[in-house]
Amino acid sequence: MFSNHVSKQLSAYWNGELPSENTRRTAEHLIRCTRCRLAFEEIKLGAKLAQHLPLIAAPDSIWPKIETALLQQPDALPIDHPTRDARVGTPVGRASDRLPLARYLKPGLAFAAGLALLFLAGAFWLRLHRTEARPSWEVARLNGAPRINSNRIDDTGKLAVGQWLETDDTSRARIDIGKVGQVEVDPNTRVRLIATQPTEHRLELARGRMSARISAPPKLFFVNTPSAVAEDLGCAYTLEVDDAGNSLLRVTLGWVALQLKDRESLVPAGAACATRPGIGPGTPYFEDASELFRTALAKLDFEPNDTQWSKIPALDIVLHQARPRDTMTLWYLLSRVDQNDRGRVYARMVELVPPPDGVTRDGVLRLDQEMLKRWRDRIDSDSHSLPGGHARFSGNDSQRHQASSQPGVREIEIGKPMGKSKGLAPSFRGKS
Ligand SMILES: [Zn+2]
Repeated sequence: MFSNHVSKQLSAYWNGELPSENTRRTAEHLIRCTRCRLAFEEIKLGAKLAQHLPLIAAPDSIWPKIETALLQQPDALPIDHPTRDARVGTPVGRASDRLPLARYLKPGLAFAAGLALLFLAGAFWLRLHRTEARPSWEVARLNGAPRINSNRIDDTGKLAVGQWLETDDTSRARIDIGKVGQVEVDPNTRVRLIATQPTEHRLELARGRMSARISAPPKLFFVNTPSAVAEDLGCAYTLEVDDAGNSLLRVTLGWVALQLKDRESLVPAGAACATRPGIGPGTPYFEDASELFRTALAKLDFEPNDTQWSKIPALDIVLHQARPRDTMTLWYLLSRVDQNDRGRVYARMVELVPPPDGVTRDGVLRLDQEMLKRWRDRIDSDSHSLPGGHARFSGNDSQRHQASSQPGVREIEIGKPMGKSKGLAPSFRGKS
């Protein structure tokens, strides 16, 4: 699984220069390979540092000397033939845009400069991280005999960065993550603590099921799965991974983002989203949608070419079965179906939740981001995405408000009984 490291492609990946299939594979590899992820973090940090390095104008008098010295090198390039591509990575590329001389540098020199910069960035990174003691999280045994790095724990234990927590078919455990929240680990599950820092707490779920209740501000708690990363935007969810690396996210409160590089699904409470290796997150759907709707959506997301299961195309079934609340799902399909089908998705959405003023058919069909966002806001405010029954979790209000300031995330009321509307907005109850 780890044999094909992607370290050589990371610079191209960061610069968005890889073909899409390669991009996806690199993104997936980064989720599960610590070694490549560290290399990638250094590239990102190097690029960020380079952006913030002050540009100091050198006195004009030094350039002739440098040019002369370069031209005296046996294999120097003639000055009137600029190197075709002397740029190596973002840092040098940026600098070369501003310094005409850099256009004449030999590729080797530019490469060395790039390496030096990476080395500096690496040293800086190490200095940042070395001073921290190796942090750990508290683990409590709930049932059976959970193990940390193969050692059975008593009633409590500590999970340090890099260590695996494993449960067999009769054991369960709870992880307490300080002020961040709690994670319950179900039977037959393998989770690893990847990072815990003020800016990022990250678990890897290799197999099994876990439930998280997070009270930290959004975008601090992450769970890597084999086919996507779950990013907490406030609240509670369950995540499970099967042996094939497929995962299923079910959100009970708040919002969770599932991402794989450029593909992202924002999943509200009451909704679920599946992911598949090689594809990434599918389309989010409300769990109370009809079974036919959910089955057809899964076909559309993950097996679009399977025509055996039904004579009717999956998209037709999804559109036919959609209730007003399911417009959330159709909104994602707008940008995921091809041009020909987009008009049909649009037409069905207009019937269910009309777009706000100024959002036009033409704009939506050419995927105008501003219009899509405005329609999405209307859909979110129309379809109450809170689940029926009582909210299980009382969070800190100011933290919820932070959640609401995230793009695409609206304000959520916490700790109030939600009635028996099954989450449907009153205005839609009669129609669905
Ligand atoms: Zn690797």
